Formats: sequence, structure tokens, C-alpha cells
Amino acid sequence: MIFVELKGHDFLYQVKDIISLFFEDTVVEYIVDSSNGIFIFSELKKNLVTNDSVKLYQIETSISNNGILCHHKVKNFELSKNLDNVEEKKALKREVKRELYVSLSVYTKSTVPWGFLTGIRPAKIVHKMLNEGLNCKEISSKLENYYLLAKEKANLLLNVANIEKEIVNNTNSNMISIYIGIPFCKTRCLYCSFTSNSIDKYKDLVSDYLKAVKYEISEVSKIILSKGYEIQNIYIGGGTPTSIDAHYLAELLESIEKNFNLNGIKEYTLEAGRPDSITKEKLCIIKNSKVNRISINPQTMNDKTLEIIGRKHTSKDIINSYALAREIGFNNINMDVIVGLPNENIIDFNTTMDKIKSLNPESLTVHTLAVKRASMLIEKKNTVKFISNKEASLMINMAGEYAKEMGMHPYYLYRQKNMTGNLENIGYCKKGFESTYNIQIMEEKQTIIALGAGGITKVVYPDKNFIQRAFNVKSIELYIQGIDEMLERKKSILL
Ligand code: SF4
Repeated sequence: MIFVELKGHDFLYQVKDIISLFFEDTVVEYIVDSSNGIFIFSELKKNLVTNDSVKLYQIETSISNNGILCHHKVKNFELSKNLDNVEEKKALKREVKRELYVSLSVYTKSTVPWGFLTGIRPAKIVHKMLNEGLNCKEISSKLENYYLLAKEKANLLLNVANIEKEIVNNTNSNMISIYIGIPFCKTRCLYCSFTSNSIDKYKDLVSDYLKAVKYEISEVSKIILSKGYEIQNIYIGGGTPTSIDAHYLAELLESIEKNFNLNGIKEYTLEAGRPDSITKEKLCIIKNSKVNRISINPQTMNDKTLEIIGRKHTSKDIINSYALAREIGFNNINMDVIVGLPNENIIDFNTTMDKIKSLNPESLTVHTLAVKRASMLIEKKNTVKFISNKEASLMINMAGEYAKEMGMHPYYLYRQKNMTGNLENIGYCKKGFESTYNIQIMEEKQTIIALGAGGITKVVYPDKNFIQRAFNVKSIELYIQGIDEMLERKKSILL
């Protein structure tokens, strides 16, 4: 347990975030006893001196252990008087986080690859700097010297942001993306925190679910028509959409093509995630539709790990499904892997990457395991072995090397809470295979209409830096019953 005392600010959430970078699984509480264990004090003194253009602030940070002062630091800084309240608060939070990061780094004699950046979408900071007119050298310097990123992460972020910028800038303001969720899977993976339900348990509801989704598609198509939107991307995810029977899959794809104008579509992805859901019939149905990108996601190519994570298939099944997809003519296949799966070591990961390399997909998404509260893994985490942060870093680097050997470059990235080693998820691809949907969802510069259980529609106003959201419930039963209500919510923000 770590105790904190905050004075002059209430940024407990941000303080906890920074503490978690250095102390995993540690409970942080407001001060109870400063003489026992680690005690952190953070004080913000505001408006010490003001003149016509700036205000002066001071942050004092100290760390003690069992009542003995180990570290103490005072920093003065200025902010422009022209900042509005929101901007000023953001800047103050950033400074408090930075000071705490620096102090904990000194105290623990360690650094973290992403410095004190804790947000999900780190590239957004680079986009902001690019929009302010900073050049690449200035941005790199700010990432390394102010945000305290390791050099390789600063370079990665800058490269990714530049690729994303090109795609985001090439998007017309009336273009949108569509997400459709099919929340069924054969089994639930140990680490899964998505809206996923057992297809066997829910088989009697699939028909009604599909009926509700098709109704939502036809109603949303009217909204799209009345707004004059153009669909840039469609993404069918879940769950595993290929879990449903072939005739349902055919119905879904037909309904999409009947209702939506797909003439200008750039990317149409369907997650054929798990080989235990893939059949030749389903792949042929997908190939005969306008889908132009599929994802076959092994996560690991080690059979013992597949068993541990609750997949009822082998690595051979992955290879067979992939070969079948190629034979049927799919020429844009993504594969996902996860760094840090339970009981895996660097040799296991090397095996996975070797096999992926021999399959030679067009894109590869490398996730770092995040133990989420909604997953079964949280309950079992004491019964399995996890890699160290250092090993996770080595594996992430190894994946990057393999991606390079496969002729790929990083094109998008995001971070999550509780990721092993506070690392990142990176999308790699061969030139020209950048997923525009993945970039749009990360950059939040485009309206995305989400259909199906658990979908979150986001209406984006990039000029005002403002996003409105409408939620679809996660429960399949409630989604079927409440579809009209959810459509009303959508209309209220879209029309
Ligand atoms: S395949 Fe994906 S959605 Fe399905 S249970 Fe596994 S992680 Fe969750």
C-alpha cells in the first residue's frame, strides 16, 4: 500500500496512474499514516506571482519511506494567462504528473519507456504539435525531454503519427465509418474483456439478434442517406463474426450491401478471428461479398498456450484456415499476436513470430497483454506465470524486427491500462495495407456509427474538439428488446 497526500490539487486519478507505472498492483490510498511504508506528498501552489502575460506556479513533491525522507523536489513554472480554465487545468495536471514521474524515477532508480504519457492515444499529442507547426526534430526533442519517452518510443510515435496524418488528411469531412458487432465466440478466451458470448449457449438467440442488427442497418442507412454521409470503412467485429452459421453470415452481408452504398468504400473488414469458427463455406460467402480485408488471429502459435487461454483449436488449425483463405483468394489478411500470454517465454514468442513470418500476412497487430477486470484472467492470475517487464520489452522489439523482415512498418498504435511493462499495441503492415478504420478509430477525427450489442457510436466535431457518444447495451437480450430505444439515442446525436 502506498499513501498519498495531495495539497492544492485533487488529481488523485493522475497521481495513481503515475504510481502504477513504478509499482504494479499497488493500492494507493489517501494518507492514513505517513510514518509507515511509502508516503508521497504532492502540493500545487497556484498563482504565486502574476504579471500581464503569465502566472507562476510551484509544485513540491516528496517521497518518504517509514518516516524517513528519501526525496524532495520543488519546481517553479509559468503558464500563459491566456489559457482558459480547461486548458489551464490540463496543463497543471500534466505538470503534477511530470513532477511525480521524475521523483519516482529518482526514488526507484528506473525509467519507463513511455515516460509519463499514460493516455490511450499517444499519437494525439504529436498531431497537436504538428498542427502547432513544430517540425519533426522539435517534436522528437519534446517527446524525449519533456514527456521523457525513451528514444525508440519517441521515434515510433513520430513515425506512426506522420502515417496517420496522411490518412486522416485524405478523408473528406462527410466520410464516416460503420462498426457492426457480432458478440458471439466459440469459447471465451482467458484474457477477453470484449462483448463476447458463447455461441453454443446463445444459439437460440442468434436469429433474433441478426433480425435486430438487420433492422438497425436499414434504419441507420436512412440516417446516412439523409445526412449525405459517404461510407469510408466498414468493420465487422465482435466477438467473432464467423461464429454464426453460414446462412446468418450470408444474410448479414447481404443486408449490408442492400442498405448501404458501398461504391466509395475504402476498406471493409470482417474478423474471421478464430479457426474454430472458419469453414470453406463461410470463407466463400465472405469472398463473394464486398469484404476486402479479413483478420485471422492466432494470438500465439504454441498449442500449450492456446489450451491455457481457452481456445479449442491448435496452431495447425490456424495454418490450415489461413491456407484456405489464401486459396479462396483473400489478398489482405491481418493477424494478431499477444506479447506476454500466461506461461509464455521469449522462446515461445519467437516460435509464434517464426510461424507468422512463414505465413506472410499483409498486416500484423502486436498486442501486449493487459489484464482487464472484465476478463477471467483476473481471477486466475495467481495460478499462471507472467513475463517480466524487461522480457515484454524484448518481445515487443522482437516483433518489430520480424515485422521489418516481413517488409512491414508500424502504422498505428494505442495503449491500454494494465499493460505488461506499460508498453503498447502496434499495428504493422506492408506498404499500402494500412487499415484506415484502425487509424480513424484511434485518431477520433471521424464519425463512427456502431451497430450491434455493445457498439458505441461517436459523432466527431473535429473543429470543436468535441465528441458525442450513443451507447448500445452489451446484453444480447436487452439489445434485441431495446433496439428502437437505441436507434432513438443514435438519431438524437446524428440528426
Ligand atoms: S476470440 Fe476475441 S472476442 Fe472471442 S473470446 Fe477470444 S478475445 Fe474475446
